[in-house]
Amino acid sequence: MKILVPVKRVVDHAVRITLRPDGSGVETDNVKMSLNPFDENAIEEALKLREAGVADEVVLVSIGPARCEENLRSGLAMGADRAILVETETFPEPLAVAKILAAIFREEKADLVLAGKQAIDDDCNQTGQMLAALLDVGQATNASRIDISGQTATVTREVDGGLQTLSLQLPAVVTCDLRLNTPRYASLPNIMKAKKKPLQKRPASDFDVDLSPRLRVLEVAPPPQREGGVMVNSVAELVDKLRNEAKII
Ligand code: AMP
Repeated sequence: MKILVPVKRVVDHAVRITLRPDGSGVETDNVKMSLNPFDENAIEEALKLREAGVADEVVLVSIGPARCEENLRSGLAMGADRAILVETETFPEPLAVAKILAAIFREEKADLVLAGKQAIDDDCNQTGQMLAALLDVGQATNASRIDISGQTATVTREVDGGLQTLSLQLPAVVTCDLRLNTPRYASLPNIMKAKKKPLQKRPASDFDVDLSPRLRVLEVAPPPQREGGVMVNSVAELVDKLRNEAKII
């Protein structure tokens, strides 16, 4: 079984985000960039399936600027077998990403896509769903557990009020949530080995997909500043403020 893991380069989750002065988006120059955290969960799960003998090959795919190679190398250092970088000038929107992934899925004759549930930069949460629709295969989103037996994937999802378990026939698209697993760290020898693992670079023009954006960002604004708290001198004052001033937002 071949597993395709789409991975996106995003601003590292620990970075304190700043906005570009013109309000057009988030500053990404001179900022630490990393693999999208949910994509690390997807890689980890694919590696576990390979180690369990369920999968034979784990292939990473990233669509974006040339610098995405760094993040593909990080995924290769975790243990993926090879990577494909589809080079574009900027990151395309989810529909274009899904169309390119669908073409690669067909070319590769893959059996399963394990994607992140969402990219933490745009929080779109769309690519996996669009990909499943384009491929006309089953989908399970926000997976917190994945079991595969033969051509059937059993996927547990966390939903309001409990857990939902779905059964899917492969090929299928599954998007991964944080609670699925704990991604492994790449060891130094594996980081060195990853430099020599196969990484195929392809121009986006290979795929004949319209990359032009369908959305126009009007403005990106920081969240409103939190107002400071007040110190009270007694329980009586606290009760008084709760009774007369506190508001439920
Ligand atoms: P999104 O729909 O943008 O929130 O992204 C959901 C998932 O789709 C991510 O966690 C990745 O697995 C995948 N994905 C999104 N954008 C890209 C990209 N440019 N290249 C590769 N995979 C991507």
